[in-house]
Amino acid sequence: MRVAIIGAGVAGLSALKRCIENKDSPTASNKITDVVCYEKNNEAGGIWVYTDETGIDKYGLPVHSSMYKNLRTNLPKEVMSYPGFKNDIDPNQSYVTRSAILDYLDSYCKQFNLHQYIKFLHNVEMIEPTVDEDKKKWLIKVKDLVNGVEKVEYFDAVMVCNGHYFEPSIPVIKGQEKFQGQQVHSHDYRVPEAYEGKKVVVMGAGRSGIDIAVEIASKASQVFLSHHNVKLINTIFPDNIIQVPDIVEINETEIIFSNGQRENVDVICWCTGYKYAFPFLSDKCGVKVDDNMVTPLWKHMISIENPTLAIIGVPFYVCAFNMCDLQVRFVLKYWLGDKQFPAKDIMISEEADELERKKNEGLSKRHFHRMGLAQSNYYDDLAKVAGVEQLPPVLGKMHADSGKRFLEDLSNYRQDRYQVVDDFNFIKL
Ligand SMILES: Cc1cc2nc3c(=O)[nH]c(=O)nc-3n(C[C@H](O)[C@H](O)[C@H](O)COP(=O)(O)OP(=O)(O)OC[C@H]3O[C@@H](n4cnc5c(N)ncnc54)[C@H](O)[C@@H]3O)c2cc1C
Repeated sequence: MRVAIIGAGVAGLSALKRCIENKDSPTASNKITDVVCYEKNNEAGGIWVYTDETGIDKYGLPVHSSMYKNLRTNLPKEVMSYPGFKNDIDPNQSYVTRSAILDYLDSYCKQFNLHQYIKFLHNVEMIEPTVDEDKKKWLIKVKDLVNGVEKVEYFDAVMVCNGHYFEPSIPVIKGQEKFQGQQVHSHDYRVPEAYEGKKVVVMGAGRSGIDIAVEIASKASQVFLSHHNVKLINTIFPDNIIQVPDIVEINETEIIFSNGQRENVDVICWCTGYKYAFPFLSDKCGVKVDDNMVTPLWKHMISIENPTLAIIGVPFYVCAFNMCDLQVRFVLKYWLGDKQFPAKDIMISEEADELERKKNEGLSKRHFHRMGLAQSNYYDDLAKVAGVEQLPPVLGKMHADSGKRFLEDLSNYRQDRYQVVDDFNFIKL
């Protein structure tokens, strides 16, 4: 098998490490003979590679990273590591800087000699299944960005690891097009200095929205944090942050909120999340994004139409590093022939049943891939079905504790320090 991996972020690096590990395996009935990872950036790390740049880069491609300069993680590093490779880059704290995470990923690459398999500055432009029986299953059109040359390569299987925090989602609000001030999505937010003395409305109170509102408030004269949480966020904000409800209308200079309040602002910062996007997958791949649900996928990752195509890292509110590694181990059990995929109609009905169950729990289709408190069930299911080593339950427990602490003590939760005691327990130092 010749395997292609698209992207060298957290997901792509775990895919690469596990594929290399299984290369030429004497026991597998299918053998991986060759692995190529295409990465459009000039270094590995994906979203953790910070750049001041926004918009379009020098190769004419949209800037991928959504990192801001002063970002510290919103999860403890104890849940941000691959199995068997402890994240101890910064031993004195749990919530570390973005560069500490990039250093960790870099040491992972070095430890397992991953760089040699990555074709940097190679942008995958198109993937489609081949029709020619003599050829391998997948055709990939890739552009070498340095010399501008496009090439076609053939593979037996593809792991798509292109991330899902790069395509901004912005709600449509009455009058929005009339606004004369500046509009920025969190994808393009970098530093608070750009908001010195300004009045800013930040829309969205997820982890990034709250983080960015607090950062901007250090420079802006006033920040309106707009969200539709039923209750006010019960935490101590800087004095110049005021919580306001949803925006219902915008005119040239004003924002009108659902309680009738009107405010003149200079900037709207949309912290309204991202859309899944796979701009290089042709329609023939048989995967589409429907109301932000990536479908049809078995177990949130395997293309039901073409099971030699897998998308790694789709679920969110998860322990991404561990989950991606588990997903890759799951996929390889099938690709290498240790396990057989269920019949197509079974995979389709499993996906439909899960959607139905989630709808009954009050989740909409666009939240189909949201895991949160259900993440441990997902991990256990993957491990059981494929017969691979499960993830320690302590991960989900730390993730949940961190989420709770974030909500109750926004200003101080990053001072918490976690220590894993065993697979089930952690303590706080
Ligand atoms: C602001 C922000 C803060 C976050 N904070 C945390 C946190 O504290 N803790 C946490 O666990 N998670 C956090 N996350 C989530 C984070 O995205 C995941 O942890 C993880 O890094 C996702 O990895 P990935 O490999 O799926 O995607 P990415 O990191 O996005 O990597 C995708 C890679 O694919 C490459 N690529 C894309 N398209 C192509 C193409 N066509 N051809 C070639 N290469 C391509 C990209 O260049 C990139 O390198 C945060 C996300 C954001 C946006």
